[in-house]
Amino acid sequence: MTAPLAAKNTALTPDLLALPRKASGGLPSLIGMTREALGAALVQAGVPGRQAKMRERQVWAWLYQRGVQDFDAMSNLSKDLRASLAEHFQIGRPEIVTRQVSKDGTRKYLLRIEGGHEVEAVYIPEEDRGTLCVSSQVGCTLTCSFCHTGTQNLVRNLTAGEIVGQIMVCRDDLGEWPEEGDTNVGAKRLLSNIVLMGMGEPLYNFDAVRDAMKIAMDGEGISLSRRRITLSTSGVVPLITRAGDEIGTMLAISLHGTTDAVRDTLVPINKKWNVETLMQACREYPKLSNSERITFEYVMLDGVNDTDADARRLVKLIEGIPAKINLIPFNPWPGAPYKRSSWDRIEAFAEIVNRAGYASPVRTPRGQDIMAACGQLKSATERARKARPSEVN
Ligand code: SAH
Ligand code: SF4
Repeated sequence: MTAPLAAKNTALTPDLLALPRKASGGLPSLIGMTREALGAALVQAGVPGRQAKMRERQVWAWLYQRGVQDFDAMSNLSKDLRASLAEHFQIGRPEIVTRQVSKDGTRKYLLRIEGGHEVEAVYIPEEDRGTLCVSSQVGCTLTCSFCHTGTQNLVRNLTAGEIVGQIMVCRDDLGEWPEEGDTNVGAKRLLSNIVLMGMGEPLYNFDAVRDAMKIAMDGEGISLSRRRITLSTSGVVPLITRAGDEIGTMLAISLHGTTDAVRDTLVPINKKWNVETLMQACREYPKLSNSERITFEYVMLDGVNDTDADARRLVKLIEGIPAKINLIPFNPWPGAPYKRSSWDRIEAFAEIVNRAGYASPVRTPRGQDIMAACGQLKSATERARKARPSEVN
């Protein structure tokens, strides 16, 4: 992909929407519960034990296949049961505070969650797919020096409901829930892929990420294939194998440096688990095969990690691992201590990687006009906040 790198900064659409907010009512949300937890919750709301399994199936389908937001719409449940459910639970979604639509179709949602915190999710339409970039934490405990989220402390982990809620909000917005009797459920999806590449380190919120992805993959609900979900980690080595076993999605590794000296400064978790340890964990990833390759992400930073020697070391490092390399032109943010590598440099680097037999797409920055690219999410939120100081808390 050789899209021009120069940002056209004229493209901010006037479509900055302030949508109505829903009162949460303080009831626990059914969204984000595992199937087992949902079954138990229904029993708690008065469903007789022998019906629990059937009701769980029905409610699950209403929530995740049809996307209903109101218990009254669950027409195969008795009126009494619907009333009882409404008394005990809600069908919570994060609230959309703003939605920005880029000229290239990218949609960025600023979402408010319990406690008044805000996270972002970004929808990126492409010809053959539509990818939602999902956040797993508010902020991050890690401090990668090129990432704006890394300058923000961890505020809290997202719950499974808040993670899967990002998918649901996006499907609401795309109008992608099938109508009753719609037989076209298997048709081409607008939201077909998920990447856990928003704010936060997904493996440091393991249980919630696992539960949310299980919900997204459940064949009686949202029903996304595990091959269409990619979890990106900065390299939390002890949890990589577990992620393969318990979540089973595709894996992306934020490599960004080929020596410990460089990676220590870019991705400081490298001081804990160095490049060699990380590569070993990749070789042992349970799902690894030629058809399920690991993606190595590599941000192109001018004069820091972008020489021909770096490219050659990168190729050597991943030797023998079924891999794809994703070159990401650095996305700048105010005060960032780095510059994006020149286009010529990126091409020369990509050429070495290609010649070694690896596909190395350069990730075209998307939604530049709305600051929706990788690693820019914090700054975008702060800009929005500045633009509407009276609206937020
Ligand atoms: N915490 C996880 C996932 C979120 S970041 C991780 O680090 O893998 C998703 C990807 O965007 C990572 O590869 C990250 O290193 C990269 N990234 C962060 N800031 C960036 C920036 N300013 N420009 C380009 N890529 C960036
Ligand atoms: Fe956290 Fe990932 Fe940013 Fe590093 S790159 S600070 S792990 S969000």
